[in-house]
Amino acid sequence: MPLLFRGRIYGANLLLRIQLTVEQLVVDFDVLRAVDQVTLQLERGQIGCLLGPSGCGKTTVLRTIAGFELPLQGRILIREREVSRAGWGLPPEQRRVGMVFQDYALFPHLNVSDNIAFGLSTKSVRKSRERVAQLLELVDMQAYQKAYPHQLSGGQQQRVALARAMAPRPDLLLLDEPFGSQDAELREQLAKEVRSLLREDSITALLVTHDQFEAFAMADCIGVMNRGQLHQWGSAYELYHRPADLFVGDFIGQGTLLPATRAGSNSIRTELGEFSGQIVNDLNGDRFNLLIRPDDVIHDDTANTTAKIVDRAFRGAEFLYTLALPSGNRILCMAPSHHDHKVGQEIGIRLDVEHLVLFAEPAATPIDKPDESGLD
Ligand code: ATP
Repeated sequence: MPLLFRGRIYGANLLLRIQLTVEQLVVDFDVLRAVDQVTLQLERGQIGCLLGPSGCGKTTVLRTIAGFELPLQGRILIREREVSRAGWGLPPEQRRVGMVFQDYALFPHLNVSDNIAFGLSTKSVRKSRERVAQLLELVDMQAYQKAYPHQLSGGQQQRVALARAMAPRPDLLLLDEPFGSQDAELREQLAKEVRSLLREDSITALLVTHDQFEAFAMADCIGVMNRGQLHQWGSAYELYHRPADLFVGDFIGQGTLLPATRAGSNSIRTELGEFSGQIVNDLNGDRFNLLIRPDDVIHDDTANTTAKIVDRAFRGAEFLYTLALPSGNRILCMAPSHHDHKVGQEIGIRLDVEHLVLFAEPAATPIDKPDESGLD
């Protein structure tokens, strides 16, 4: 029967390509619906991220996957095994899930090696030593194996916390704002480092953050949440260029809305001219708002259209200009920072939009404002 046996194993492996399934999850705290019909899936080795404003329910989804909260409705499967359903949940320690928290939660009285070894259930001292050595190398902390947490920098503690959570080879790693206590500039760098560590060990992970740059740096799939609901689950590119709704369009990146009317099946008309392109979210009717990203607006001295600079923010390599059109509508324009224009100046612009992202009216309003930190 070896062939049959091998066939069954093979079939099971195919099935196990999906590592995490969350199906129509609902979690209530008394009268508050913290998670409302959330559905998502992660394949083996994928890194997912839940992104959204404070209080939108991200952490509650993570805690329910870990087994610290029970769902009111829906179910959760890890490697095709049901771990939660309405009113029932497998205890956290039986889920083969690792967790990394914002404050790292390292044991202060244990050195780096012992912190990493803590979660290993193996009775063999040799096997435990081998796994710890492997992880020390992976997170590049061999030189600190005898150091105690208080002797480490924040970034080093973070790598130890990650190694400790990865040590027992969990089926799923959950990371709750793991870079939250780091400086903003460091976070993106750390997110990239952690991504490559998880990749090296083919770990499936779900991260929670409110920082979109961290999400972009780390995740294959990002879910944007608001008020308990998952508005969209997709790649960073999809969220930016094909936002499912106005909330996602507003939350991800920057942009403004410009009134538009239908000019043809693949074209629309705005005060900046007529544009053809792929209409992302085709709506009924003839009047819409077109989402315009700062990188859609090209500063071009030879262009026929001009707009007046009403604000500008210095971003190092670029200036983010806020421009007023003759109608009074405003758009954002990202221009290389050697194009140094002053507030009040008129500059030539043209629009280069590939994806036409339309939303139903109400009237045009800026959906995102540039920050006020510019040099004027
Ligand atoms: P943040 O980014 O601020 O951590 P979040 O998106 O992770 O927010 P959650 O912590 O999941 O949000 O909280 C979602 C909602 O549920 C919030 O309104 C919160 O106040 C509420 N909540 C969370 N935990 C509990 C609890 N144990 N009891 C009652 N309400 C809770």
